[in-house]
Amino acid sequence: MTYSNNNREQVYKGLLRLSIQLNSETDLDSLLDLVVSESSKLVNADRSTLFLVDDERREVYSKTTPGQEGREVRLPLGRGIAGTVAFTGEPINIPDASVDPRHAGDQFGYVTNSILAVPLKNNTGSVIGVIQSLNKQSGPFVQHDEEILTALCDLVALAIERVTISKEQKRLSDQLVYQAHHDALTGLPNRLLLEESLAQALAEANRKKHQVAVLFIDLDRFKMINDSLGHTIGDVLLQQVAHRLQAGLRYSDMVARQGGDEFVVVLTVVKSLQSVTRIAENLLKTLREPFIVCGQELYVSASIGISLFPTHGSVVSEILRHADTAMYKVKDQGKNNFQYFMHEMNESEQRRLWLVTQLHKALELGELLLFYQPQVSMKEEQIIGLEALIRWDHRELGLVSPGEFIPLAEETGLIIPIGTWVIEEACRQAKEWQNRGLPPVRVSVNVSALQFNRDDFVNVVTNALEKSGLDPEWLELELTEGLLLGDTYLIASKLHNLKEIGVYLAIDDFGTGYSSLRYLQQLPIDTLKIDQSFVRILGSVHETPKAKALLKAIAMLGLNLGMRVIAEGVETSQQMDYLTEIGCHEIQGFLVSRPLPVADYDGFARKAESRLASLNQSGLNQPKIDRVA
Ligand code: C2E
Ligand code: MG
Ligand code: MG
Repeated sequence: MTYSNNNREQVYKGLLRLSIQLNSETDLDSLLDLVVSESSKLVNADRSTLFLVDDERREVYSKTTPGQEGREVRLPLGRGIAGTVAFTGEPINIPDASVDPRHAGDQFGYVTNSILAVPLKNNTGSVIGVIQSLNKQSGPFVQHDEEILTALCDLVALAIERVTISKEQKRLSDQLVYQAHHDALTGLPNRLLLEESLAQALAEANRKKHQVAVLFIDLDRFKMINDSLGHTIGDVLLQQVAHRLQAGLRYSDMVARQGGDEFVVVLTVVKSLQSVTRIAENLLKTLREPFIVCGQELYVSASIGISLFPTHGSVVSEILRHADTAMYKVKDQGKNNFQYFMHEMNESEQRRLWLVTQLHKALELGELLLFYQPQVSMKEEQIIGLEALIRWDHRELGLVSPGEFIPLAEETGLIIPIGTWVIEEACRQAKEWQNRGLPPVRVSVNVSALQFNRDDFVNVVTNALEKSGLDPEWLELELTEGLLLGDTYLIASKLHNLKEIGVYLAIDDFGTGYSSLRYLQQLPIDTLKIDQSFVRILGSVHETPKAKALLKAIAMLGLNLGMRVIAEGVETSQQMDYLTEIGCHEIQGFLVSRPLPVADYDGFARKAESRLASLNQSGLNQPKIDRVA
């Protein structure tokens, strides 16, 4: 719709409506499009064009509307109609363009008769654009048209100013929000954002029932670097540290700068203690690599304190405080390390967490070793096997019992590398004994459910055999009943695979698990190891006819199924005698020998026959009293 020239009232109404529209428009582009489409209607023109000033190039260019891309017209300032208006800041009204030299020609493919061009000025009076209308439908443009376009230009200038200001305000307020949440030096989230994000992470973890870890990192001796080399170097170093910390983490984790040389890492989803420990170790490692700052090589280390949600606290302040406390502990104990928060834990929990960090290094430090406990046949008076039993010789604690650290290794997944090492080491040792000419005996290795259930378990066994050159018939794997409870088909096929390789399979601690007798018949098991608890009853206050009958029944069961049956934990000759009586001639226990360090085995093997013979003698002749070897 266009407004009739006669109807001034309508024109003013149109102008008013447009001014309201312009006022509510927040996007500059849409605002300018609106100007182009409405200005023609207001002055009853065929077409209007909005030119904008390009100050840098000293040109005006036509603002294209969607669909007109690439059809932009450019004119130098001072040239053509729009260029002249932009240059002089004065309107131009040409009744007959065909005779006016300023008219640049027919750029848009129209025959142009009349032209009206008025400047668009900003609030300081500078020209920022030109509105140019072509061909008044009822003859040339008049003074009134010029007034209308000028009024429109004023409205547009105001609207542009408003949009630009609100855009700038938004940019400024965004920038302020960003600055309030980030550290200016490193660009990392600051304490405020850390606390906000940590609160979110805790809420999420609470809902989804997972753990969150907070690592409080403080550089060691940073003050010294800062004081001796100057703040500029200190600052660059902090930036590089920030960068390395970030690079070592997942996208979903967060590094914040707490202030000074303190950084905080939040691991938002923690699957296992082991993964936290690994990340802490990696962070320490990356920080130990030399930094090159302004051509200087700098060496830095850090102390890391770790606290966990929900173990060490349920709110942000508590978690952060505890991580900080743990960090100070590390500083006290010589820096360049990490430690979990401990203060409020009871002693056994403290020891557990501490052991985890220690166990992590045990393999690397060569603190793990195997002892071997002889398994003997009393009938043949000879050694028939050796059970490999792991020992952890910790530099401060001395020997740590597997009863304490194996469950921990299972919980943290460390049992996988440890278990692989045990199989390899046992095979290697067995082969070494054979190479040295000792009579070959089978080594038994304990296998955890976690280990057995891994897809690569059969490969681990094959590799160990290949690596050591040990013949498979000299390796036995001890599995617990619990391990056989999973997916029957998978377990059976894995056991058959192992049998195909040629290794032996034993059920350890038989009778203590959820004994399903059917598996004894279905699965290819060679040996049944009667649990110590049944043996211990013999000669104790719990010895009853029923208890003895049960032990006998278990032994019979195995023997009748064609398995080897061996009794564990035999400590007295009285126990040995009863076992012999019920047909169980194979025994393992302190009566024969404690688990031996490798160095002691040679001596034992040499004297084994005479020792076993004398045991048989004493067992038969002596009164049945407890004699613990
Ligand atoms: P297990 O496989 O049932 O091993 C027998 C345990 O009984 C050994 O304890 C052994 O020292 C102990 N023992 C042997 N004879 C007697 C005796 O006459 N009296 C008494 N009171 N105890 C006796 P150890 O070496 O402390 O091992 C404990 C458990 O730790 C083992 O029980 C086994 O389940 C686990 N373990 C040991 N080494 C490994 C390993 O390399 N891998 C895995 N996954 N578990 C292991
Ligand atoms: Mg065992
Ligand atoms: Mg056992």
